[in-house]
Amino acid sequence: MSEGQLEIWKEFTFEAAHLLPHVPEGHKCGRLHGHSFLVRITLRGHAGAQTGWVLDFADLKTAWKPLDSALDHRYLNEIAGLENPTSERLAVWIWERLSATLPQLFEVTVRETCTAGCAYRGPGG
Ligand SMILES: [Zn+2]
Repeated sequence: MSEGQLEIWKEFTFEAAHLLPHVPEGHKCGRLHGHSFLVRITLRGHAGAQTGWVLDFADLKTAWKPLDSALDHRYLNEIAGLENPTSERLAVWIWERLSATLPQLFEVTVRETCTAGCAYRGPGG
C-alpha cells in the first residue's frame, strides 16, 4: 500500500448569466451574457486502507448539490459575494462554501469558456 498522496477530482457544469461591472467602457464583458461554466473540484489525500479511495465521488456530488442550486440558471451578479462575478471571484466563492465539508479540498477550477479558466488553492495556497 503506497503512502503517496493522491488527487481525485470531479467536474460539474452549470449555466449562468453575468456581466462584469468594473471593466472599461465598451469591454464586451460589461454586457450581459452567459456561460456554460465547468467547475473541477480536486481533493488531495491518502486512499483509505479499506475503501481504497480518497473520498466517495458520491460524497463530492452531494457537497456540490447546494452550490448547483445556488448557481445554475442564475444571474450571478445578484448572488451575495458575487457582485463582480469573475472566474477568480467565483472560484474563491466556491472554495469558501466547500472547504468546511471537504477537508481534503485542494483546488477549485472554474472554466468559463473552452480556453479560459482559473484555479484557486485556498488562502494558504
Ligand atoms: Zn463572462
